[in-house]
Amino acid sequence: MTTVAAYAAPAAKAPLERTTIERRPVGEFDVLIDIKFAGICHSDIHQAQEGWGEAIFPMVPGHEIAGVVAEVGPGVTKFSVGDRVGVGCMVDSCRECDNCKAGLEQYCAKGNVPTYNGIGKDGEPTYGGYSTHVVVDENYTLRIPDGLSLDVAAPLLCAGITLYSPLRHWNAGPGKKVAILGMGGLGHMGVKIAHALGAEVTVLSQSLRKKDDGLKLGADHYYATSDPKTFEELRGSLDLIVSTVSAPLGLDQYLALLKTDGAFVNVGAPEEPVSLNLFSVIGGRKTLAGSGIGGIQETQEMLDFCAEHGFGAEIELISAAEINEAYERVQSSDVRYRFVIDTATI
Ligand SMILES: [Zn+2]
Ligand SMILES: [Zn+2]
Repeated sequence: MTTVAAYAAPAAKAPLERTTIERRPVGEFDVLIDIKFAGICHSDIHQAQEGWGEAIFPMVPGHEIAGVVAEVGPGVTKFSVGDRVGVGCMVDSCRECDNCKAGLEQYCAKGNVPTYNGIGKDGEPTYGGYSTHVVVDENYTLRIPDGLSLDVAAPLLCAGITLYSPLRHWNAGPGKKVAILGMGGLGHMGVKIAHALGAEVTVLSQSLRKKDDGLKLGADHYYATSDPKTFEELRGSLDLIVSTVSAPLGLDQYLALLKTDGAFVNVGAPEEPVSLNLFSVIGGRKTLAGSGIGGIQETQEMLDFCAEHGFGAEIELISAAEINEAYERVQSSDVRYRFVIDTATI
C-alpha cells in the first residue's frame, strides 16, 4: 500500500477537504499513474451529495484523469514508465459477458467498477482522480496522444466520450443535421465532436448567452429554447438531437423537431421520471434513446480523433483549494466549460 494525498468528501454534502488515502500495491497488470490533472464532472457533485442514492464515504471523486505512468507491474505490455495516460469513468469490469467481449464494458452485465464510489475487485472502495496517484489495470488505462495537452485532455475521459459514443452510434457526419441540447461541459464537447465529424451542428441552449462560444467551437446555428419560435422554425428538420440536460424537459416538443427516423438521445438525465406522449415517437417512426460513456476501445478512438482534429476541452484550471467553490459554480452553470484541478496543488 502507498499513502497518497487526496481531496475527499468525508460525508454526503460535506465540503471536500485534503486528506490521505491508501492506493493498492502495483499488481502484475497494473500501472501506477502520477496524476497531473483531474476534471470536475457534474456527476462528481451528484455523488458527493448523495443525489443518486447511497454513496461510499469518504469519497474521492474524479473520473477525468490525465497523468504519466510512474511504475508498471511485471505483466504490463501496453504501457511503459513515462507514457502519457488517462483514466475515465470505470477501472474494471467482468471481462467475460457479451458486452465486455464486444468492447461495451460500460454496459457490463455484472456492472463495471466505477473509478470512484465503487468497490474494486479487491473488495476495497475505489477512489478517483482528486489525488496525486492512482493504480489502475492496464486494460482500463487509455493512451493520451502526444498532440493533446494533458490538462485539456482530462475532460475528454468523461465529457468527451459521453458525446462521442452516441454521435458515432447514430452516424453524425456529412449530410446530417445534429443538434446538441445544452451548452455546458458535455454540450461544448458535443459541438466540437459533431462538427469534426462533418455534421451540420445546431446548438439548442436556454438563452443566446453562449452563442459566440458555440459558433467559435463549430456550431453552424444557435437557438434559444426559451424562444417559442425556435420550435416552429426547427420543426421536422433534425436527424439527431443529443440532450446533455439533466433538468426535466418537455420531450414532446423536442421530438417534434426530428425528421422521420430521427433520434433523440439522452446523455443527461433528470433525477425524476419523465412523461411522454407516445404519439410523439409513433408519428415519424422516431427513436427516444439513451447512451452512457463508451467502451475502452471507443474511448481510445475518441482520444485519437480529438488529437487528430487538434482539440481538447475548453477548461478553467483551478487549484485543489478551489474545489468547493468550483462545485458551487458548476451548480449555477458558471463555468466555461470544464474545471480542471491541477493536482500538483493537492
Ligand atoms: Zn463524468
Ligand atoms: Zn462484463
